[in-house]
Amino acid sequence: MARLNRIQHEYVDFIPARLEGGRLYISMKYRTATHLCCCGCGMEVVTPLNPAKWHLSDHGATVSLHPSIGNWSFPCRSHYWITSGKVLWASAMSEGQIRRVRAGDHRAVEVEAQRESRVDQPREETTQSASWVTRFIEWLRRLL
Ligand SMILES: [Zn+2]
Repeated sequence: MARLNRIQHEYVDFIPARLEGGRLYISMKYRTATHLCCCGCGMEVVTPLNPAKWHLSDHGATVSLHPSIGNWSFPCRSHYWITSGKVLWASAMSEGQIRRVRAGDHRAVEVEAQRESRVDQPREETTQSASWVTRFIEWLRRLL
């Protein structure tokens, strides 16, 4: 199964019965978009377009869908963003993240997933808090 890195969109009245991979079918009439899971597993992903579900942004040549698409009910458990026609993959979700999504806390998981995908950035925060902890321990030692 090959993961896709791009997806093309197509406006349709009715979502076709047979979907082609790498294609996002958008029906404004039925306020829904459908595509085959970008991991290549062949599962059909239906993303209703309404304020409680997904928001579609049309950039002309490409589209974006927000929030991310988490197929945790599928065996593949794919999680990705469709941004400007690109498929951006999140790391596999932990059980805890899946539980929070199922509990409706989509936002928290988005933030976590984005934080995970930025692990290559300098870890200044960690260093600072570590030195703060060290100073605090030193201070405690002086008290004892
Ligand atoms: Zn899949």
